Order: sequence, then C-alpha cells, then structure tokens
Amino acid sequence: MLFADKLPAVDLCSRTFLSDMSELHQPTKLNRQGERRTSRRSLLRGSAVVGGLSTLAGRFPFLRFTLADMLKQAGDHPAEIKMQSKIHVCVIGAGAFGGWTALYLLRRGARVTLLDAWGPGNSRASSGGETRVIRGTYGSNQPYTKMVVRALQLWTEHEKRWNRQLLHRTGVLWMAARGDDEYERGSLPLLREAGIPYEELSAAELEKRWPQINLEDVRWGIYEPQNGFLTARIACQAVLEGFLSEGGEYRQAAVASHDFERGRWDALALSDGSKVTADHYVFACGPWLGKLFPATIGDRVRPTKQDVFFFGTPAGDDRFSEKKLPVWADHRDRFIYGIPGSDGRGFKVADDTRGPEFDPTSGEREPSADGLRAIREYLGFRFPALKNAPLLESRVCQYENSPDNNFIIDRHPNSERVWLVGGGSGHGFKHGPALGEMVAELVMEGKDADPLFRLERFGR
Ligand SMILES: Cc1cc2nc3c(=O)[nH]c(=O)nc-3n(C[C@H](O)[C@H](O)[C@H](O)COP(=O)(O)OP(=O)(O)OC[C@H]3O[C@@H](n4cnc5c(N)ncnc54)[C@H](O)[C@@H]3O)c2cc1C
Repeated sequence: MLFADKLPAVDLCSRTFLSDMSELHQPTKLNRQGERRTSRRSLLRGSAVVGGLSTLAGRFPFLRFTLADMLKQAGDHPAEIKMQSKIHVCVIGAGAFGGWTALYLLRRGARVTLLDAWGPGNSRASSGGETRVIRGTYGSNQPYTKMVVRALQLWTEHEKRWNRQLLHRTGVLWMAARGDDEYERGSLPLLREAGIPYEELSAAELEKRWPQINLEDVRWGIYEPQNGFLTARIACQAVLEGFLSEGGEYRQAAVASHDFERGRWDALALSDGSKVTADHYVFACGPWLGKLFPATIGDRVRPTKQDVFFFGTPAGDDRFSEKKLPVWADHRDRFIYGIPGSDGRGFKVADDTRGPEFDPTSGEREPSADGLRAIREYLGFRFPALKNAPLLESRVCQYENSPDNNFIIDRHPNSERVWLVGGGSGHGFKHGPALGEMVAELVMEGKDADPLFRLERFGR
C-alpha cells in the first residue's frame, strides 16, 4: 500500500481520470452542485484512459471499487456519468467584481481559490476608498437600472446575513441643469419599469427641501429615496470574510506575468514561486486587465486618474451630513457628484470627467492642483456655505474604462476555460453582487454572456 499511505485511493483515481478527461472535452459541463457531467461520447473517447485505469486497478486492488462504481453509473445513466469531485475555479482579483464572483461560484458548488496581489479594496484597486454611489438613474437604453434592482436586493440580503451595514439609504438626488436633460428624461421610464421608487421634483420643490443647495441653473431633479451609498473597501473585506466562512480559499499573491494570450497553459504561476492549477480561471483584475491581456484587452480597459476630495464642514452644522442631504449628482457641462458625511471624513466631492491615463501599480496618488481649484470653485457656487471649506483629505483612484462604458464579461478567445471580467468604467461597484451571481452562472453552466458584454462588440 505504498500509494495509499500518501494518497487516498479514491483521490488518486478521480484525479488521474479527471485531469485526462478534461483535456478531451472542453468546456466541462457542470450540474447545479458544481459536479462534472461527462457525456457517453466523451467517455468513449476517454476509453484509453479508462483502459489504463483498469490496468492500474488490476495492479492496485484498492482502485477497483471506485472504477466499478463509475462504470455502474454509466450503465444506470447512459447519457452521463456523474463525477463527484468539485470543479476548481481560480478567481484573480478580490475587488467588487472578483470577490462577489468568487462567493457565488462557491455557492454554486465549486471549489474556489481567490487571489489578490494587495488584498480586497486595497488603495490601488478601483474598489478602494470609502464609499460608492448606488442609484437607478442611468439614462435610456441600458441594462444597468434593472441590474441595480437585483444588486440592491443582494446588498440588503448580505447586510442581514453578515449583520453589518454596507448600504446607507440616504437617497440620491439628480439635478438636471438647464439645456440638455435627455439623460434624466430617458431614465424615468426605466426607473418606472424596474420599480425603483423616485420623485420628479421642480426647482421650487428642490429649494424647499434642500435650501443649503444653490439651485441656479437647475431646472428639475430626480430623487430616489431608497438608494444612497455603499461602503467600498469595507464591503470588499466583508465579501472576503463571507467567502472564507463559506469555505473559500484566499491567497494574497500576485499572478506573475505570463503569456496568458496563448490560452493553453497548465498552471498559473504566482509571484511567490508557487502555482495554482484549476479547471477555470476568472481574471477580474480591474484596471490591470489590459496589461495582463495586451492583445485581447489592451486599451479596451483604459485606466484614468480620478481625484476625490473631502472638505470640512462648519463646526456644529449638520446641513451637509447624510441626515440632512442625500447623495447628489449635478449634471451640467461636467458631471459632478458628492456624498455627504462619509463617516466623519468630510463632504466628498468628485468630478466624473475622465482624467489623464494612469498606471494603477506605479502611479503617484496625488491630486492635481488644477483639479482641486476647479472643485473648490464649484463647491462655493453650488454649496455657498462651503465656499472656504478646508480640504481634509483627498484620494486618487482610477476608473477602468471600456470604450463604450459597458462591462466586459467573456471567455478568452483562445481558451474556453479563461474568463475576463472587468470594464467597470466608473460605475461597476454597486453591481458587484448582481454581476458576481451572473458570472458564476455563466462559468458553472457553460453559458455565454449577454452580447452587450462580449468582446465581439470590439470586433475581436
Ligand atoms: C473614484 C471612483 C469613484 C467611483 N464611483 C463609483 C460609484 O459611485 N458607484 C459605482 O457603482 N462605481 C463607482 N466606481 C467604479 C467602481 O469602483 C469600479 O468599477 C469597481 O470597483 C471595479 O472593480 P473590479 O473588481 O473590476 O476592479 P478592482 O477593484 O481594481 O479589483 C481588481 C483586483 O485585482 C487585483 N490584481 C490586479 N492584478 C493582479 C495580479 N496580477 N495578481 C493578483 N491580483 C491582481 C488588484 O489588487 C485588485 O484588488 C468608482 C471608481 C472610482 C475609482
């Protein structure tokens, strides 16, 4: 029993069989529990492997039971043999996209290894920082308003499950300035259709409710009372904790640079010299995706520098706290938004206009002096009481923009086993749980993503 001392019999048998079989027919089909389903045709094609195993069983009697079981199953169910080993998925990137995807893969029965170079919601990641807006107003002709409904359900469900607050329902106010309000008008039917509660408010009504805002230029607004903001870094860490508590494996390690484009590689080499071998790989590397896949993604994910500022409010004045002011967005020639309060960190204000290109690994995270000047000017105009407010903190994050601002969810063109997930384009965070649920289904059920998210839209 030389082998049995080191490896349980069943393990040796199924591992040998499965690794060879998976080469023969890809992608492997999975049932709801994440077990592999192997068709009879594939079984026949794999008969050489079975034959080899039979010989092995002849030499090592402890293998016989497992082989007999497998062949009996084939007789009972001619179309398929159920293999009891779990499919192994490696998710690279523990940000909003990767973390939730890993969690949902686990819940679909996969064995999941989640990797991140610096940790979930780290300061280089697009999911880092304090807060993110969650809103349903998204313009016309897009799938995101509907996705927000599912995301909201899941955020709420997980708050209860994990007994911690991640979602602050402060309300979200959209101010439509004079001129073009097509975006806001186009949002209304989708909000209605999705069942997201909202109010359409005139400038006079806005002024009555929020006198601390100077409404010059604003014609009307949309108020979503049940939306608001999410914690960012903290939520990513909560997802990891949830993932670990449900049996996931996490390693803080970077995927070493490698020719991933080739498609056919056996194992993922990590920066610490170790390797991970899985059945499927999901690369959810946010702004790094273009560097890892220069031919398939390249500048289809373009990281841009985004400055975020936190200003100090007057002492004892709570008009700019989340109790008195919702999350707001001001749609004029530029699109500026803010989150009040931010857990005592100050009044958060940022410009959504895409900044200069930015390297997420080596970029110095210092906001530009021009950006600060412009934001100060804006603040004094729209919130006159904050005219000379001091800057308390600032952050530099990066958007990971796809050319059309839609997400990228697809298999790699050279490998059915490799999935690319990213292109959050400055609006992905809120969708994390809904996206993770969707990607897990695609991977485990062998389905294709919606054409809107697929690479073929770029002509690749
Ligand atoms: C300033 C700012 C404001 C935003 N505001 C909003 C908002 O209000 N609402 C909203 O919904 N969205 C918003 N977004 C967008 C949203 O935050 C992103 O779309 C989303 O967080 C992207 O998540 P991700 O998981 O794709 O990427 P990331 O969070 O960047 O995660 C990728 C992970 O991959 C890891 N990684 C990279 N390379 C490797 C490697 N080689 N090996 C191992 N790990 C690796 C990184 O460490 C990182 O943790 C904002 C973004 C920014 C920057």
